[in-house]
Amino acid sequence: MSSLRFQALNAVLSRTTTEVKAPSAKPSEYFNVNVFNQKKMKDSLSKEAFNSIVHSIDSGTPIDRAISEQVASAMKAWAIGKGATHYTHWFQPLTGSTAEKHDSFFEPGSDGQGLDKFSGEALSQQEPDASSFPNGGIRSTFEARGYTAWDPSSPAFIMGNTLCIPTVFVSYTGEALDYKAPLLKALSVMDKAAVAVAQYFDKGIEKVNASLGIEQEYFLVDLALFNARPDLYLTGRTLFGHMSAKNQQLDDHYFGSIPDRVLAYMQELEIESIKLGIPLKTRHNEVAPSQFECAPIYEEINLAIDHNSLLMDLMDKVARRHNFKVLLHEKPYAGINGSGKHNNWSLITNTGKNLLAPGKTPKNNLMFLTFFVNTIRAVFEYSDLLRASIASVNNDHRLGANEAPPAIISMFLGSQLNDLLDEIETSRVTSKMKQEPSLWTSIPKVPQILLDNTDRNRTSPLAFTGNKFELRAVGSSANSANPMTILNLIVADQLNKFKTEVDKLIKKGDKKDVALMTVIKRYIKESKAIRFEGNGYSDEWAQEAEKRGLSNIKTTPKALDVLLDPKTDKLFEETGVFSKRESHARHEILLESYFKKLQIEARVMGELVDNVIIPTAISYQTTLIENVKGLKDIGLGADTYEAQMDIIKKISEHVNFIKTNNKKMIDERKKANNIEDIRDKSIAYDERVKSYFDPIRYHVDKLEQLVDDAKWPLPKFRELLFIK
Ligand code: ADP
Ligand code: MG
Repeated sequence: MSSLRFQALNAVLSRTTTEVKAPSAKPSEYFNVNVFNQKKMKDSLSKEAFNSIVHSIDSGTPIDRAISEQVASAMKAWAIGKGATHYTHWFQPLTGSTAEKHDSFFEPGSDGQGLDKFSGEALSQQEPDASSFPNGGIRSTFEARGYTAWDPSSPAFIMGNTLCIPTVFVSYTGEALDYKAPLLKALSVMDKAAVAVAQYFDKGIEKVNASLGIEQEYFLVDLALFNARPDLYLTGRTLFGHMSAKNQQLDDHYFGSIPDRVLAYMQELEIESIKLGIPLKTRHNEVAPSQFECAPIYEEINLAIDHNSLLMDLMDKVARRHNFKVLLHEKPYAGINGSGKHNNWSLITNTGKNLLAPGKTPKNNLMFLTFFVNTIRAVFEYSDLLRASIASVNNDHRLGANEAPPAIISMFLGSQLNDLLDEIETSRVTSKMKQEPSLWTSIPKVPQILLDNTDRNRTSPLAFTGNKFELRAVGSSANSANPMTILNLIVADQLNKFKTEVDKLIKKGDKKDVALMTVIKRYIKESKAIRFEGNGYSDEWAQEAEKRGLSNIKTTPKALDVLLDPKTDKLFEETGVFSKRESHARHEILLESYFKKLQIEARVMGELVDNVIIPTAISYQTTLIENVKGLKDIGLGADTYEAQMDIIKKISEHVNFIKTNNKKMIDERKKANNIEDIRDKSIAYDERVKSYFDPIRYHVDKLEQLVDDAKWPLPKFRELLFIK
């Protein structure tokens, strides 16, 4: 097998940069060419039809049948005009990737003539026959029907020769089986709640959209090297590998110049993204060698999430043309930084105001404070739920590993805002303050310079960065819909409670501003424990957080417990975002994916040590033994083969350790597989199977250091990380 490594290395050394043909037009001209956006709809639909569909999108009301016929017909004409031959409902099942089932436009007509057909029905609804998507027991096989239903708020697009229609995926009985359906519900709850509160300040605000800008980190590795590492292509991460002598110590990769082959890849990715309407803006090297980041400009959140899913697909497709493999795994290489997906979130009104941007006037500042403090209060109240929303087997490697935020949810506000909240907390706000001026002299002003002045605390899972919150704990391969559903939902729920409390005070006779400040002040006090400005990586913080009563749940199976909490059931059911059946099913799906991924890793590890690592080590050991015998034969003394003897013994020690521990791991796996309860099973996988990974790996990596480089079969870290 070592020949595969050397073939791969040869392949990499002979690579040339794939040429990228940039369109002759400017990006601004080819932006959205592969998207059936509102402009194209407007141009191809009757005025009534267009207005009707825009109304449906804005208000979330169902689309009239006749209208969907018109849209389908216009969409078909556009897509076929661009060379599309097939269409598909494109959705985001709980597998974590996107799903599609292609149907051809072509149909034979009754007279033997061929037709191109795409009806309003085919646009609006489909029934993927797959009973094999994760469903947590919601769909028993005898009732395996699931439906995809068109989401008109996210425009259709063409990938390759296929027209893709963004859809939600629900079971026959109406339960959500995907990421999008609950997100859309949460966004609608947020819209209502935020509008109701925003109207205290501005009656002109009729709609609030959440916005999201997603920074996507990833690694690139040469395709040939990737294919020579079964652990990488089967699990997405390296299960073995001695750390490269040079790694990220010199900090010389971050923002460094981008290698030519990588730059060509990025250029093509940008061109394809822009055509698909994904407004990619930023590209740069990241901290670890061969790690990079790209980020689009923020968009309405549902679109931003569809675009991120599409981007992840596109990254993979484009990378292959450049003989790269994109690694979206949170921790492809132990010992160097992993990858995250920062979610920059804010709330923007139909009047164009960002509710999380401090204003210039006292009225605007009070509006800012209201949304700002309610967000903090919500995260305080539901921090465990937010923690659960970012939990995954991959992210467990990252959180708390001194490169990504800890598993403790806290919020960083920056010293100015932190001081401001402290001042408000101790200021006097009483119902005697009937006049605005007296109120405004008692609360300090929000400084105007915030945007440029937020100190960036990279160790915080959720940081305020001037006019938005940045959730940094999301994993690079995750679908952001999950954390964003939760964040929007908990903030919306908090805003609803806030409104009730403020209205009560107003009814009792308080002036509106006094009522607002009274509740804000109390929220600041109540949620103080969640605010932390210091170093989130430090041990002191873990201790301090414990004193404050904050959770520090390090592993996924336990982090997910909150999904079964009656408090969670109540939140989900009151807001209508998840039924109890749905959320409990999700709990099961997440656990299933958790232990299955560990099961696969354990198996791959076992196969590789038995069939690749140990045979390699023994074969090298045999060469040494031959050598020692030869030295003895020609009459030389023990001093001439001392080193060889030492290596021979060490190899045996490592091989023995690996062999015995692999056996123990297999036994534990068997025991775990027999556990019925899925939570217990997942915990067993975490505590009793996964616990063998590091020790086994340690000894394999020792062998890597002992065995002749020419015989070592797996591409080494230095090759994976540095050869481009
Ligand atoms: P950094 O790496 O400094 O955090 P980047 O420029 O890489 O910043 O990414 C910031 C992201 O935040 C971009 O996607 C940007 O469009 C987005 N963003 C900026 N303003 C807002 C906002 N008001 N709401 C949501 N996202 C925003
Ligand atoms: Mg950022």
